[in-house]
Amino acid sequence: MKKIILLLVIAGTFYACQGQQNKEVAKKQKAIAINKTDEQWRSELTAEQFRVLREKGTEAPFSGEYNDHFENGKYVCAACGNILFGSDSKFKSDCGWPSFDKVIPGSVDYHHDNSYGMTRTEVTCAKCGGHLGHVFDDGPKETTGQRFCTNSVSVKFIPAGK
Ligand SMILES: [Zn+2]
Repeated sequence: MKKIILLLVIAGTFYACQGQQNKEVAKKQKAIAINKTDEQWRSELTAEQFRVLREKGTEAPFSGEYNDHFENGKYVCAACGNILFGSDSKFKSDCGWPSFDKVIPGSVDYHHDNSYGMTRTEVTCAKCGGHLGHVFDDGPKETTGQRFCTNSVSVKFIPAGK
């Protein structure tokens, strides 16, 4: 009997925490400047952009347009145009996705992500909430030590001077 009560208490605590988390997520989503319905996003994005940006998908490694792209300019959110990375922060990581060692301050939000049995930090666009990728602490030691592992499909490159 004691065991059953204990289990109920644990389950209750778990559900209470879940509820709290959901409330926090709801609050965060309200703060996003650009809030569109899935229908609106579907009409504006390609199917692959929608899958990655809105459904938190991941493009296949070494497949993205910007994986081996090192030109002078900036990378903006493919969904809303928010400036995310300068080309000076891009480095060759050989991980299969565009990698940056820093973001434009305030341009992204961070979220705990425990999906697929991993503990990671998800990175989303601060303006539209679009999924960009994840940040890891195995970036270049001589700069920030961070690696913003980013889907090519989530960003758009704007050459310098444009
Ligand atoms: Zn955005």
